[in-house]
Amino acid sequence: MAQQLKYKRILLKLSGEALAGQGGFGIDPTILEQYSKEVKAIRDLGVEVAIVIGGGNIFRGITGERSGMDRVQGDYMGMLATVINAMAIQSSLEQHGMYTRVMSAIKMEQVCEPYVRRRAVRHLEKGRVVIFGAGTGNPYFTTDTTASLRAIEIEADVVLKGTRVDGVYTADPLKDKTATRYTTITFNDVYEKKLSVMDLTAFTLCQENNLPIIVFDMNRPGNLLRLVQGEDVGTLITV
Ligand code: UDP
Repeated sequence: MAQQLKYKRILLKLSGEALAGQGGFGIDPTILEQYSKEVKAIRDLGVEVAIVIGGGNIFRGITGERSGMDRVQGDYMGMLATVINAMAIQSSLEQHGMYTRVMSAIKMEQVCEPYVRRRAVRHLEKGRVVIFGAGTGNPYFTTDTTASLRAIEIEADVVLKGTRVDGVYTADPLKDKTATRYTTITFNDVYEKKLSVMDLTAFTLCQENNLPIIVFDMNRPGNLLRLVQGEDVGTLITV
């Protein structure tokens, strides 16, 4: 069955904000449930799944800075927030019958493993869903950059950026009714047209390492499954 798959090893990036659901803050159990079902569907086909989760539903360093907090302190708080989200996802995935590991870029041995690339790859080979917590472990970075970096390290086939919109548009579809979705677009075109996909550090890492990105709507049931089977879902960004 696995040979029909377009992508065998994926890095799924989920924003922290998405976890908050309608409430706008914290962790909505219905979203966790929905995402776990989506991940289960592709795990059952044999896809190796790594996840990077953001922390924006709890804390962002830049927000702290705006209210007078030291930026680095705030960024570490943001990284810790991603570990809380990673643990929540882990718990939900396990309730849905998957084997998982949380690996953190900041050591906290009572709650999860430290990130070690070779061990992460081994977990994936054994069919465990690996959730990377604490971002890159460095302030001034984002979890999008974490997603690009980890995807390159574990040699993922693609970065799947799950969002609330179904791809990259010619303009903001909420403001411009004539905006249309790109099915595929090159990294250079994204730059030149100043389209927003990821922050530039994250984006450039993918481009320089020839790692495709797909931006897609994670909230549409079945999208993740269709995507790994090669259907036209979202926008594919390639070199
Ligand atoms: N963060 C960081 N270094 C990293 C990753 C994240 O300092 O490598 C901090 C940063 O403050 C960021 C916060 O963690 O704002 C949460 O991550 P992000 O904003 O990327 O989450 P998302 O927008 O995806 O919810």
